[in-house]
Amino acid sequence: MDEYNLAPGELIIMQTSNVRLGVGSGSEALDEIVLTNMNLILVATVSEGLFKTRRYLKRCPLDSILCSADVPQAIAARVNSTPVLRVAFSEETVTVSFTEGGKRLADRWAESVRRAAAGNIDAIDTSELPSGTAAEIADFVDGAVGVVGAVGDSIGSALGASLKAQKPHAEKMAAKVTAKCPGCHAPVAGRKGQGVVCSYCDTKFVL
Ligand SMILES: [Zn+2]
Repeated sequence: MDEYNLAPGELIIMQTSNVRLGVGSGSEALDEIVLTNMNLILVATVSEGLFKTRRYLKRCPLDSILCSADVPQAIAARVNSTPVLRVAFSEETVTVSFTEGGKRLADRWAESVRRAAAGNIDAIDTSELPSGTAAEIADFVDGAVGVVGAVGDSIGSALGASLKAQKPHAEKMAAKVTAKCPGCHAPVAGRKGQGVVCSYCDTKFVL
């Protein structure tokens, strides 16, 4: 898995192509975004002259995602009708827009980033998303249910249970744990399932 320069113990949870960094006219095409148990990785191929391209990886550590009331700040939203994922890291806020898959895909990413940041890897839904038309219809239904509100349930059931809107919910942080560093046996504290770097010997491992 040298493709993403993964650290020992770092695992890919999900990845999506057809995404852009930023939104609208100022955005840049990305090859893909990759979520691991330690990082959100942005992958871009940049032209450097006539026949040269270079692949860039930007690794955004999940443990630097800002939390509000113990909830990691990763949200799905729409900007000028484009679905986006917005993640607040301590250094910067990263906005990724989705050119395919609709708001539903942005919702899935936001939820997965929150769960991964909270060390709740097992709870992440890695099943295939409905693709193309199905995703767009589901996306549209989500919007309709949101607007109609009180009669949303009847709309949802009329269109089938699989298209029911999922209510976004807060992901609580995993329990705090202390583990021994596999490199130097120093005690390292953090959240269960979180990717950490030992401050004594720089060994990376998952709590
Ligand atoms: Zn160590």
